[in-house]
Amino acid sequence: MGTCSACREPLVLQVNDGDEDEEPQVVPDDLEAPCGCHFHWQCLFDQASELVISLRCPSCGAELATSTSGPSAANPLLASSAGVAILTTYTNEGGIQEHYDILPEITEEAYLDANPEARPARAYHVMCSEGDVGGIVELLRDAERADGDEPRLSTLQLVRYQDPLGGSKSGLHLAVERRQTDVVWLLLWIASTLPAGVFPDPVRQAVETMGIQRPSIPSSDDIRALRDNRGRTAEAVAAQTGGRMAAMMDTGVLYPGPYE
Ligand SMILES: [Zn+2]
Ligand SMILES: [Zn+2]
Repeated sequence: MGTCSACREPLVLQVNDGDEDEEPQVVPDDLEAPCGCHFHWQCLFDQASELVISLRCPSCGAELATSTSGPSAANPLLASSAGVAILTTYTNEGGIQEHYDILPEITEEAYLDANPEARPARAYHVMCSEGDVGGIVELLRDAERADGDEPRLSTLQLVRYQDPLGGSKSGLHLAVERRQTDVVWLLLWIASTLPAGVFPDPVRQAVETMGIQRPSIPSSDDIRALRDNRGRTAEAVAAQTGGRMAAMMDTGVLYPGPYE
């Protein structure tokens, strides 16, 4: 069993240590960089801010980035940023993943290190994609309650967050793209000017059961007007997604203007 080049501990992760009834279990946690150095996932990601700039191994200093094959590699003008990867071999509980490009996640981690207030917003986006209505409601309640000196987003900023690393999509874009109808209705409830009478009865009952107040949103803050970096509103994404999202769009509820 090798050890981590950063912390010198064995390349395993202890799980279920919170549960006193069970024996502590260890699972592999071995991220092998292209240079051959091994790290715990977290130990390498702790270095994300430096790594994303230097693209060098924090232990041996070797260059880690490789040009990826594909159309961009054939075009030297595009190869500089888009066609770069850090290809690792990652062994964890789930098995071995070879040629695993960690650069996107390293970039995201570096971004979050520099913008810690965006962390809840990233969590919110994952919940929008996965259809986790309960999680979103809880997160927004926490945002309302939170105090302290840490910089943080207001509830509305959180709901309207657009991910600079994810094509500037909003939570609504993601929910539409992943056909998460419940999340779409929830976001329309809390961040649009859509008249309450337009919401289907089960949706209204659900939000009332969860105790979600409907804030009054000026039309300038309507989440439906947000555009991703390709200029698309959530309505435009719904048209491309098709199926039940296109059907929802046909009723006009995603149109970012006065409902008719
Ligand atoms: Zn380590
Ligand atoms: Zn190395």
